[in-house]
Amino acid sequence: MNFISMNLVTMLYLIASVCFIQALKGLSSPATARQGNAFGMTGMAIAFVTTIALILKLQSEATAAVAAGGGLGLGRVALGVIIGGGIGAVLAKKVEMTKMPELVAAMHSLIGLAAVCIAVAAVSEPHAFGIAALGEALPTGNRIELFIGTFVGAITFSGSVIAFGKLSGKYKFRLFQGAPVSFPGQHLLNLILAIVMVGLGLTFVAAGGTEPAWLPFLLMTAIAFVLGVLIIIPIGGADMPVVVSMLNSYSGWAAAGIGFSLNNSMLIIAGSLVGSSGAILSYIMCKAMNRSFFNVILGGFGGAPAEAGAGGAKEQRPVKSGSADDASFIMANAESVIIVPGYGLAVARAQHSLKELVEKLTHKGVTVKYAIHPVAGRMPGHMNVLLAEAEVPYDQVFEMEDINGEFGQTDVVLILGANDVVNPAAKDPKSPIAGMPILEAYKAKSIIVNKRSMASGYAGLDNELFYQANTMMVFGDAKKVIEDMVKAVE
Ligand code: NDP
Repeated sequence: MNFISMNLVTMLYLIASVCFIQALKGLSSPATARQGNAFGMTGMAIAFVTTIALILKLQSEATAAVAAGGGLGLGRVALGVIIGGGIGAVLAKKVEMTKMPELVAAMHSLIGLAAVCIAVAAVSEPHAFGIAALGEALPTGNRIELFIGTFVGAITFSGSVIAFGKLSGKYKFRLFQGAPVSFPGQHLLNLILAIVMVGLGLTFVAAGGTEPAWLPFLLMTAIAFVLGVLIIIPIGGADMPVVVSMLNSYSGWAAAGIGFSLNNSMLIIAGSLVGSSGAILSYIMCKAMNRSFFNVILGGFGGAPAEAGAGGAKEQRPVKSGSADDASFIMANAESVIIVPGYGLAVARAQHSLKELVEKLTHKGVTVKYAIHPVAGRMPGHMNVLLAEAEVPYDQVFEMEDINGEFGQTDVVLILGANDVVNPAAKDPKSPIAGMPILEAYKAKSIIVNKRSMASGYAGLDNELFYQANTMMVFGDAKKVIEDMVKAVE
């Protein structure tokens, strides 16, 4: 069944790689995101079919030893694809948008674990992977690749499991709580474990011979699993999406490392793309949240632990509040309105009602724009996805840097379930969110804020904007309030 040549495999892998690059390019803008996804799916389909064809080819050329060991196990590959693909499809269909970060964390843990499993199999039977001839020792270069791929994969696995637990907030287990878990000497312990892990890895690399040095290899893997847990537990829930993006990057590098060992160009390219795009995304998120990149990578090293979850400080000062009808009256009589969507809008699933409200206001001659903060919601691009779901025209949606200059000349700002991203406390050097760029809603002539209570946002801070003389609070679930606004505008 030798129907595919290695040249064709290389060519198809190259085409798949170009598709992946196009996918990343497409995903950089909401207008081209669907096209980007289509490229990604096409690339993955090509890579998958090519790999299956490659397995069939290798099977037909299999050495007697491999054949005696049951061949290359196409049946098992097919079973894995059916079970894994089935679970993936059901999860993707069912998952709520706000639960996406924890699903992504769970997926990354599997990539890390897969990297470790492949490395263990390759160390155990290198001839089956074409790394060394039967009875020959593993070459030093492959040992280095396997060592790196294994420890990065192990850290990714256990770190992602902890990140999943922290993000889901459903489990009572202490390590899965949003609050940072720290103890004296934690960073020193991490450092010592990292040094021991690298030392064991180098021992594995240095040990020649046909018998793999299992003891240092397995000890190194076990320490990497522990290190993954220790690196992630001191990070608070608010930083967790950045951590997920970092782990995404790690999982890419682990895959690339294993790709080198297996001499698989597809894995190397796809892994590097995931690794570098994940690292860039983490950097962008850190910048938007004013968190240090290294502080996050090194597990809160040298930084104050982040405040956990929402529902923190509440202040008992009076605020001006009004009804949805009052808010509609103000907006309908304005010339310009900027809408700031936030996490609460996603929770309430109010994006479709919002679109209807904007259509009604626009019909009345009001100029309406949406202002998007890069970390509004709970994952990068969360608000863009939400608005795209409701088919809001892209030309009404503006990024922070493009719209911040307009707030001062705007009649009304309508803030829907957003809090931290409009908190002027960021301008105070003593505030925990000092330096975080915000949407400058506080500059508008009138401000309308919809949320359910005076509870804080993710950063756990009170928001001075709610007490401004020109601010009116409209309390209630965003969906109900917006539906009432639509009726009132009519
Ligand atoms: P926030 O978490 O600051 O605030 C959301 C507000 O929505 C809450 O104050 C809550 O108040 C309100 N709310 C919740 N449910 C509803 C509802 N059903 N109807 C109306 N209001 C509701 O959200 P922001 O989007 O302003 O900020 C995002 C935060 O998440 C930032 O701190 C950011 O740093 C952090 N973050 C974001 C990441 C990202 O990638 N997007 C990554 C990591 C962190 P109440 O309970 O009173 O209703």
